[in-house]
Amino acid sequence: MSTSTVSTALTEPVAVTAGTILSVRDLWVEYRAERGMVQAVRGVNFDLRKGESLALIGESGSGKTTLAVALIRLLTKTARVPRGTVTYWRNGREVDVLALGAEDLRRFRWKECAMVFQSALNSLNPVLKVWDQMYDTVRYHESMSKDAAWQRSLEVLQMVQLDAARVLNSYPHELSGGMRQRVLLAMGLLLNPQVLLLDEPTTALDILTQRSIINLLRQLKATLGFSTIFISHDLSLAAELADRVATMYAGQVVELGEVRDIFYRPRHPYTLGLLQAVPSLTAGESEMVSIPGSPPDLIDLPSGCKFHPRCTYAIERCRAEEPALLTVGPQHGAACLRWAQVAQDREHVETQRA
Ligand code: ADP
Ligand code: MG
Repeated sequence: MSTSTVSTALTEPVAVTAGTILSVRDLWVEYRAERGMVQAVRGVNFDLRKGESLALIGESGSGKTTLAVALIRLLTKTARVPRGTVTYWRNGREVDVLALGAEDLRRFRWKECAMVFQSALNSLNPVLKVWDQMYDTVRYHESMSKDAAWQRSLEVLQMVQLDAARVLNSYPHELSGGMRQRVLLAMGLLLNPQVLLLDEPTTALDILTQRSIINLLRQLKATLGFSTIFISHDLSLAAELADRVATMYAGQVVELGEVRDIFYRPRHPYTLGLLQAVPSLTAGESEMVSIPGSPPDLIDLPSGCKFHPRCTYAIERCRAEEPALLTVGPQHGAACLRWAQVAQDREHVETQRA
């Protein structure tokens, strides 16, 4: 990796908060491509707490999927993790995820941390009945009898409110998109993971089906108590499902905070831009405006803050410095040198709401 892209400010150690199930520190991921190295994830830090739902938001290409896939060690061969740690807290003991051997990794993946993949609707094998696919998953990870696996499959399909016996005997094409998404969720839940990674779980669905999946996710989280990392470019879904939100831009988490703070008191101009680009979220505040320009080339990143070429708040210093997350409020960080100016400009809107 070229050292010029590494900001020292991003590498300071961050203390782990109590009640954490997964912590990520200074995580970097890059892909080897023809034109050079794609810096897909750059110095990401966060803690996922037990039972919490953390939404990752950001434009397409900001590194959300790469980050999630890195957490369960399923990156493609052309990817590399040059730096960083992922720690999973197994009954209070630290597990160094990036150092896990094959056997331990198998236990971690699916049993402790499962992922429902982006565009997963087509990832079910069309020639296998749902039961065969669920049994394969169980068999690979757990020594469970066929009867026990059948019982467990029925159970999780009921959890996602499907007609379990019928669905187990169906081929994927016999199910609607919403039903298939529920099957994939059920597969994620099969081994009762502590952490569920959901990559755009509703993107391919119509609006009513989206709604029912969101309601289902809320219910499941409340009854089962797992933690989720919920990836979405749809801010209104994130607003409904998340306890906390992390905004990603050019591979970096540029803002992290409680859902209310992110939506009502954003401090990074990029988060603000995302919010203003959604009509329903800014109704009555100002007109919908899109963020000028386009995301940077991750092979040839701009100097300083990666958002500065698109940012109306940018000053000379922003070209030179890439700040780490600065404390902008209780439990609220923003990687912006100008956050106080953002706060000042929004004062009139925010006092109305308070
Ligand atoms: P998001 O999920 O936010 O849309 P991704 O993690 O999919 O973002 O992608 C982050 C960046 O990494 C993008 O610029 C994308 O083009 C690049 N990328 C993703 N997968 C690969 C790959 N296998 N090889 C090279 N570049 C990749
Ligand atoms: Mg993605």
